[in-house]
Amino acid sequence: MSGLDNINAIHHWFNKKLDTHPIVISGPCSAESEEQMISTAKALNDTKQVQIFRAGVWKPRTRPNSFEGRGLDALQWLNTVKLETGLLSMVEVASPKHVEMCLRHNVDILWIGARTTSNPFSVQELASALQGMNIPVMVKNPINPDINLWIGALERINKAGITKLSAIHRGFYPFEKTRFRNIPKWEIPIELKSRFHNLPIICDPSHIAGSTKYIHEMAQKAMDLNMDGLMIESHFNPKKALSDGEQQITPEELNRLLRGLVCRLHVIDEDEIDQLEKFRNQLDSIDAQLIELLAQRLNIVDEIGEYKQEKNITILQLQRWEKVRERGIELAKSLGLSEKFTTKLLRMIHKESILRQNDVMNR
Ligand code: PEP
Ligand code: MN
Repeated sequence: MSGLDNINAIHHWFNKKLDTHPIVISGPCSAESEEQMISTAKALNDTKQVQIFRAGVWKPRTRPNSFEGRGLDALQWLNTVKLETGLLSMVEVASPKHVEMCLRHNVDILWIGARTTSNPFSVQELASALQGMNIPVMVKNPINPDINLWIGALERINKAGITKLSAIHRGFYPFEKTRFRNIPKWEIPIELKSRFHNLPIICDPSHIAGSTKYIHEMAQKAMDLNMDGLMIESHFNPKKALSDGEQQITPEELNRLLRGLVCRLHVIDEDEIDQLEKFRNQLDSIDAQLIELLAQRLNIVDEIGEYKQEKNITILQLQRWEKVRERGIELAKSLGLSEKFTTKLLRMIHKESILRQNDVMNR
């Protein structure tokens, strides 16, 4: 349905081998000073777990007169960070001017913030500014839980020729108070992945959580859902942060958090896909047979219903049910099925049979 099928898997962006580790993007919410940027970046680099250094250079603040970023100076600090650590740099862009300045200052990756994704006019302006550029772009979900708005933004950027494209899930604005700053609504990124298999999805637990308390829980959940990477805000001194202080962790805390994550191997190769496909075909065929058999069983039940009505016999005959159960469990056990499961299954079938007979007799 869409033009998102030419998107590159995220490990190809960095010539990275496929493994169980997520791509990790970390860095401060905002670039505040050269010292803050370099100390944070060096400590993050020492963890050997981070590939991309993020920093907000222009900050979209809810109210005026808040700290709005350091602009051009910050772009220069980012280049020092790159030189000293080798990390890739990543910056939020919200206007064609931002795009142009980032390209001019060799920023490696761009991201589009949640507020911007919510506005198709702004996204289209960014797409036009990116036309023909070969730079990776990540698109955060819009503030409101509208999957089509998110897809629309991805499509606009993709149409501009960007194939190193990824989505970032950062949760959705809650109208009621919740324990999270933004409600995760995991079903939305899951739906996105099921519609666009090759679209990488990064989770941003920091902006979901809004507090350092829940970052680990959200990051683990993202790993359990096979997301491709994590964007986690980190500051060398979160208490002094000029934006999002409550949700930023130190590089050391990030290191501990990442090492504590359980990441399962979810990358499967062609042979494994074939084998899985064979198993699934077998299951599908067995499921179809089970349903046909159940339908046959219930047809016979209907016939019994008619017979009982004719002969004026009661529907439920306890001895009969006991026998069905005993015989079933004995057979099931010999085939390795548990008594609990078999009883439950037979009870459901029996219940449905009684209902059907009742219907027949009340016709
Ligand atoms: C950010 O990443 O600092 C930011 C402003 O994020 P969002 O657009 O998700 O609110
Ligand atoms: Mn932030």
